[in-house]
Amino acid sequence: MKKVEKNEFDVVIIGGGPAGLSAALWCDDLGLSSMLLEKEKEFGGQLLWTYNAIENHLGITAKNGREMSEIFLQQTEKRNFSRHLTAGVEKVNLAEKTISLTHGEEFSGKFIILATGVRRRKLNIPGEDFFRGRGIIESGKKDADKIENKNVVIVGGGDAALENALILSEKAKKVYLVHRRDEFRGRKEFIEKVEKNGRVEILLETELVEIKGDEAIRSVRTKNRKSGEMRDLQIEAVLLRIGIEPNTELFRGQIDLDKNGYIEIDSSCRTSIANVFAVGDAANPTAPTISSAVGMGATAVKQISAYL
Ligand code: NDP
Repeated sequence: MKKVEKNEFDVVIIGGGPAGLSAALWCDDLGLSSMLLEKEKEFGGQLLWTYNAIENHLGITAKNGREMSEIFLQQTEKRNFSRHLTAGVEKVNLAEKTISLTHGEEFSGKFIILATGVRRRKLNIPGEDFFRGRGIIESGKKDADKIENKNVVIVGGGDAALENALILSEKAKKVYLVHRRDEFRGRKEFIEKVEKNGRVEILLETELVEIKGDEAIRSVRTKNRKSGEMRDLQIEAVLLRIGIEPNTELFRGQIDLDKNGYIEIDSSCRTSIANVFAVGDAANPTAPTISSAVGMGATAVKQISAYL
């Protein structure tokens, strides 16, 4: 009989947001040993950077994502599954079902569940990294007080950029809304409100090319994509809302991903590799919600338990 190593589990779950936590809970319920790996210092995933109230997850409401995460953690705290924070994954071999962490530890599972979620897309322009937390704000809802009577630039053309323009216009002296195309992709209702808002100046077909300043942001440079004209705007804060992208680089070349990098799955959350499942937003580009993530965790583990 094969010797069972300490770091060998029925199921190893990568990612400790709602989908991964739900999968771990279900593993306990169905008697499967599992290890939940999370690269950050705390579980919660995207909930930790969700600042609006959550009122559409059946059975629980919360004033923000962090509060909801705490409710999830209270429920899972005493459950019987192994967990590991600051577990940055360096390498995964999905065919072999082995996972190596950056600090050297190794894990293997009969099954692997990928629950790595999504992250905010970056612009990759000069100043973006330096001014993060020094003038690049995280959220209109959370940081509205910081921009009281200041000039702020928002980049993006979707619902998030438009909604934040409306929120910040209530406190800011002026909001510039910079979008790369000649039309927004967000909701009609938001577009109409933004267009009528006297404190929002819309700059279409425009890119943000640099964020400048010293210890604080002093200005940004924009470029008109049609005329090539450069403009410096005197502003003190920046909010980037240019969408999200999946955390799936580790799996590229091993598993089927769609053209945007999302993991392709079937209705049981099975991926293109045997005994590898994917749950949550990294595998759900069309309906990324907390409820779907939690449901996908349950679906995958029920399926795995049937195999075992
Ligand atoms: P979206 O993907 O909807 O929009 C991203 C925007 O950023 C697009 O306008 C896109 O431009 C632009 N963009 C992407 N990459 C770049 C880049 N490199 N440089 C410049 N601009 C770029 O993301 P959101 O975060 O707005 O929304 C995500 C989801 O959340 C959506 O489903 C949205 O409906 C939902 N949401 C709903 C809200 C609500 O209903 N209250 C509030 C917030 C979000 P282009 O259009 O040219 O592709």
